[in-house]
Amino acid sequence: MLWHPYTQAARSPKPLPIVGAEGAYLITEDGRRILDGISSWWVSVHGHGHPRLAAALARQARVLDHVLFAGATHPPAVELAERLTALTGLDRVFYSDNGSTAVEVALKMAFQYWRNRGERRTRFLALDHAYHGDTVGAMSVSGIPLFRDTFRDLLFGVDRYRGEIGDDVAGVLVEPMLQGAGGMRVHTTAFLADLAARCRAAGTLLIADEVLTGFGRTGRMFSCEHAGVSPDILCLAKGLSGVLPFAATLATEEIHAAFLGDRARTFFHGHSFTGNPLGCAVAIESLRIFEEEPVLDRARAIGARLEAGLAPLRGTAEVRGIGAVWAVELPADGGYLADVGPRMAEAALERAVLLRPLGNVLYAMPPYCLTDAEADRLARVMVEVVREVSDRHVAG
Ligand code: PLP
Repeated sequence: MLWHPYTQAARSPKPLPIVGAEGAYLITEDGRRILDGISSWWVSVHGHGHPRLAAALARQARVLDHVLFAGATHPPAVELAERLTALTGLDRVFYSDNGSTAVEVALKMAFQYWRNRGERRTRFLALDHAYHGDTVGAMSVSGIPLFRDTFRDLLFGVDRYRGEIGDDVAGVLVEPMLQGAGGMRVHTTAFLADLAARCRAAGTLLIADEVLTGFGRTGRMFSCEHAGVSPDILCLAKGLSGVLPFAATLATEEIHAAFLGDRARTFFHGHSFTGNPLGCAVAIESLRIFEEEPVLDRARAIGARLEAGLAPLRGTAEVRGIGAVWAVELPADGGYLADVGPRMAEAALERAVLLRPLGNVLYAMPPYCLTDAEADRLARVMVEVVREVSDRHVAG
């Protein structure tokens, strides 16, 4: 009856029957409490069932559940935009539904920006190993062959960034500091600063996809802060609400200004749920939690414990990470399809921890409500799992 995402139904184990969630735990039908080591696809920042988020959602649902966002506005949309612009230094907020739509909006916005200015900049550059989502535009800029090759004929051409930026480039996309789905690859601040400087020099737009890295994942509220970089366009989703399908694409006033004038300059893009008040209200409450509680300190502390806990694996595997995201890459063949992936997931689940390796890369990206003891346990389970599959590997 169901068709699950990223799931080979002919081979995968039965899906976990989850009936509840609380803090860092998912609760199964038979009452098992499973530690959500990956924040349910990197979404849950404060943990599941947070009372403040649940209350904000319920409150908003009673007042205004939804209204179209063309020709109408509402207080939560305004307040959230005020908060996001204050936090990022950007000027305009365009709402949508998920990370992929945030990226689609960024691409179309950048493309039309140049067109409205009468300049012929029509190409995008993106990085090797990039992942920006599963819609057609987002797939075009992504750089993971397994996900995109089937659709190659459908995608628009995108060059991989090699340091040069031609004068026909509309924008350069980057997942700042940390490429997620491409294998939890960490960049240096120098790389990010250099990329931003080259975009400036080439007069093109820097598009930061912080769908994953935003909201403290890399130890700063936004990952661009590590290098003091201010993008022209910023994509946010996942941890923006942490609870609902909700996203935002932020842009500079200069970009927005290019859309003013006659009707042909309009940005003809929108979704039924653009600016959904429930999403706005939850995102506002989430930002209040960041403001009032030492959430970023907690994220960094969790990361430090994960790093220390994974140290015993150094030497046999590559351990890397940033902020609250830590990964172990096993020397296994097969990349994303490496057999060790499902085996590590299974071994973790036997220990009541949900992990979903990217092939031979096992990683943790837990919610920030994790206690020190839980962070230590998570790292311990990762070490055990890696040792278990490595032993089996060696044993043949
Ligand atoms: N951009 C990045 C950096 C991501 O990591 C993801 C999802 O993992 C996306 C975009 C797409 O987000 P969504 O799955 O919400 O469409």
